[in-house]
Amino acid sequence: MRNAPTILHLDMDAFYASVEQASKPSLRGKAVIVGGLGPRGVVATASYEARVFGVHSAMPMAQARRLAPNAAYLVPRFGIYRDISEQVMALLRELSPLVEPLSLDEAFVDLEAGGVAWDEASARLVGAKLRADIRAVTGLSGSVGLAASKMLAKIASEQAKPDGLVLIEPGTERALLGPMSVRTLPGVGPATGDHLRRAGIHTVDELAEAGEDELVRLLGKAHGHALYAMALAHDERPVVAEREAKSVSVEDTYDVDIHDRARVGMEVQRLADRCVRRLRAAGLSGRTIVLKVRRYDFSTLTRSETLRGPTDDPAVVREAAARLLDSVDTTGGVRLLGVGVSGLADYTQEDLFAQAAGEQVEHAEEEGDQEEFAGEREAAPAERRWVAGHDVRHTEYGHGWVQGSGLGRVTVRFETPESEPGRVRTFRVDDPELEPAEPLPLVVRRPGGVDDSGSVGVG
Ligand SMILES: [Mg+2]
Repeated sequence: MRNAPTILHLDMDAFYASVEQASKPSLRGKAVIVGGLGPRGVVATASYEARVFGVHSAMPMAQARRLAPNAAYLVPRFGIYRDISEQVMALLRELSPLVEPLSLDEAFVDLEAGGVAWDEASARLVGAKLRADIRAVTGLSGSVGLAASKMLAKIASEQAKPDGLVLIEPGTERALLGPMSVRTLPGVGPATGDHLRRAGIHTVDELAEAGEDELVRLLGKAHGHALYAMALAHDERPVVAEREAKSVSVEDTYDVDIHDRARVGMEVQRLADRCVRRLRAAGLSGRTIVLKVRRYDFSTLTRSETLRGPTDDPAVVREAAARLLDSVDTTGGVRLLGVGVSGLADYTQEDLFAQAAGEQVEHAEEEGDQEEFAGEREAAPAERRWVAGHDVRHTEYGHGWVQGSGLGRVTVRFETPESEPGRVRTFRVDDPELEPAEPLPLVVRRPGGVDDSGSVGVG
C-alpha cells in the first residue's frame, strides 16, 4: 500500500435532489425526494432536508410518503444528471488518467498516477481545488475523501459529507476502522453481513480478532482472505480507468431445445446458483436480477427485476429469477438460458442503488414490451406526458416544471435556475400552449467563464 493519501474519492452530495433544487428555486431548502413514483417505486435520492424525516435511498416510496408527506416528489431527469456527471468527470480526468467512475456522481481518482499529488499537503490542495472547480462549473457541492487506499478514501468522503473534505493520515487507518461495522468493508453485502453477525462478528475489530483461519472457514478461501486483509486496513486494489465488470452473468446453450417447463425452471435455479457463486467470488453484491431466454425461433427475451437493496443471497436471486421466468412463454422450446446480476456494489452505497433504480425507469421508457416494469410507470397513459418534476414550456408563461397532474389537469410552476421562486398555474392536460421541454443548464456559461468540458448543456 502506498504511504501517501493520494487516492481521492469524490461523491456529489445528494446528487439528484441537489440538481432538482438548483433547477427549481422554489425547492431550495425544502424536502425533495427523487425516485420511482409508481406503486413499487423506491427513493433514488433524498435531499438533506428530507433525510431529517428519516427518508433515505432505496426506501420504498410509500414509506417515504408516510414519513414526509409534504415533501416534493419528483421523477428522475437522467438527461441533465448525465450532462452534469460528464462535467464532473471531465474535471476529474484533468487530474489523472486513472479515474474510476462508480456511478453518475461518484468516482475514485489516483492523484499520484496523474502527478498532481505526492504527499498529504499536495493531496489536500488538489482536493480543495477540485471542490471549488466543481462548484464553479456545476453550481453543486461534492465531498472529497483522501487516503492511501480506495477503501479508506471512500470512508473519508462519507465522513466529509455534506460539502466537506476529509483526509485520513496513513498509519491511522486501523484505529479508525476498528469500531466500525463490518458492513463498512467492501465485499460485505447484506448476506455476508448476516452470516458474520450470526457468528458474533459485528465490528471490524471483531473481524480482525476472529483471525484469518476462522474467516476462511466461515466465508470460503477467497472471500475470507480478502476480508481479513481489509479488516487490517490492507487494501491494495488499484484505481482502474474502466470499471471492469458492470454485471456478473452465466448462461447455457442447450444442444436440444428444452420443452419441459419444470426442466426450464430447474435450469434457471441452477444458473442462479452459479451466478451467485461468481458474484461472491468477486466480493460483489447486486441489485438487479436479469433473466435471458432464447426461444426455439431465436427470439431472445430479457427480463429484469430490481430489488430494494443489493444481494448476494442465492435464495433471493433464485426467487427473483423464478418470478421473471413466470412472465415468459416457453411453450415452443428454449435453446439458451442465462441469469445475471447487475447494479453491482462492492460497497452498499446509496448512489449505486440510485443508479440501478434509474436504469430501470429508463428501460421502461425505451422498451415498451417489458411488462414487468409496470410498477415504475407513472399514472395513466393520458397523463403520462406530464411527469412530476419534468420540464415544460408554455407559449405565454415560458419555462416551468410539472408539479402534479390528475383529473385532466396539470399544475406547472414557472421558474428557472436563475429566477426567483415561481408561480403555479393549472392547465388542462391537453392545453395546446403547453409542451414538454429540455432541461435548462444550472450554470449559465458566459464568454471567458470556466468551461473546458466542451460537451455541456442541453442535448
Ligand atoms: Mg452522492
